[in-house]
Amino acid sequence: MTISNYHFHGKKAIVRVDFNVPVDENGQITDDTRIRGALPTLQKILNDGGALILMSHMGKPKGKPSPKLSLKQILPAVSRALDRPVLFAPDCAKAKEQADALKEGEVLLLENLRFYPEEEGKPVGIDKTDPAYEDAKKAMNSAQKTFAQTLASYADCYVNDAFGTAHRKHASTAVIADYFDEDSKMLGLLMEKEVQAVENVLNNIRRPFTAIMGGSKVSTKIGIITNLLNKVDNLIICGGMTYTFVKAMGGKIGTSICEDEQLSLALEILGQAKQKGVRLVLATDTIVADRFAEDANTQICPSNAIPDNWMGMDIGPDSCLLFAGYIESAQTILWNGPAGVFEMDKFARGSEAIAHSIAKATANGAYSLIGGGDSVACINKLHLADQVSYISTGGGALLEAIEGKPLPGVAAINSKL
Ligand code: AMP
Repeated sequence: MTISNYHFHGKKAIVRVDFNVPVDENGQITDDTRIRGALPTLQKILNDGGALILMSHMGKPKGKPSPKLSLKQILPAVSRALDRPVLFAPDCAKAKEQADALKEGEVLLLENLRFYPEEEGKPVGIDKTDPAYEDAKKAMNSAQKTFAQTLASYADCYVNDAFGTAHRKHASTAVIADYFDEDSKMLGLLMEKEVQAVENVLNNIRRPFTAIMGGSKVSTKIGIITNLLNKVDNLIICGGMTYTFVKAMGGKIGTSICEDEQLSLALEILGQAKQKGVRLVLATDTIVADRFAEDANTQICPSNAIPDNWMGMDIGPDSCLLFAGYIESAQTILWNGPAGVFEMDKFARGSEAIAHSIAKATANGAYSLIGGGDSVACINKLHLADQVSYISTGGGALLEAIEGKPLPGVAAINSKL
């Protein structure tokens, strides 16, 4: 079922949202992007004449109630966003009566799902090496099903709009779907957009396809790099990862960040790229610093001839031009991870140049997807958010999807996606 085809009139919808918003010590929300992200779905259901049961996690309470992570704090914000009073269920597993009493247009917010260990379904207080662990895991699996069934019993239909947790097989993100038939479970509008965005870079590729992978470590990006080698025409590798590749090829990298245990992997990736006809592009020049600090002394040097005691902090001007060529001629663009230590303004130029090139390519008709906290932060800082095709809201979920892993939250609703 799709949300556009479902008529919510007279129905109660239980919606998994991602209201895991940051709150300060006074319980004030510091960024309500996630609440705003869910609004199209919630408004569609209310406008159709449905009632809403909203469920989410907040933070990592590890299966125990924690007042600091109570969703009660965000009740006024949700109420303002939906322009109506919102009821609160202080115990998400004991909300049947409140759910049953809901009328058309009414909204009930359940307390943080992760106050129950059943939500994540991991046995608590027992180590994986403990001989009793397997039995505890089985017991928890069964408890998780019961918990999901309880949540399902509150509603006529289930909507998952929490892309941020789509890579988790939790009670509210995946298991609950087993208790609804095909016609009464669906992705929310935000989820649909995210899934479509991933489709555009993995399957509906318009060529040339240039992916830009930055960030600090090869080891955390290896799954993505490997999958992308089967998809892209050009793979730009930048950020701290550069120096592992440069060292593997015999270059001098000074004190730049490097994963020595990944040197052979880097060579393997270079070999695979060649074999698959993918152009793997590395920075030719680097801005180096004599300290990891904003006020360090800097100079520009070739990426493979960094002087001793200097470290690579950002791509140099020649690399910005080199990368711009591959980005601005592309029809499909994916960007994850900064080109340098962009948190320090002095070393943000490379990431900024990439962001501008992506905006330019998008204006010329390319499809561009930006994902991962740092690249999103960079696009936002430059006020270019409305000049790229799509900015993903789900860090880990997006990365797993790009690795080619099925997302349990999506598969539970539509196994073909
Ligand atoms: P990741 O979490 O792996 O996506 O990496 C993001 C982090 O990589 C950011 O905090 C950047 O500051 C860092 N980074 C990017 N380039 C470099 C570099 N040349 N040296 C050290 N850290 C870097």
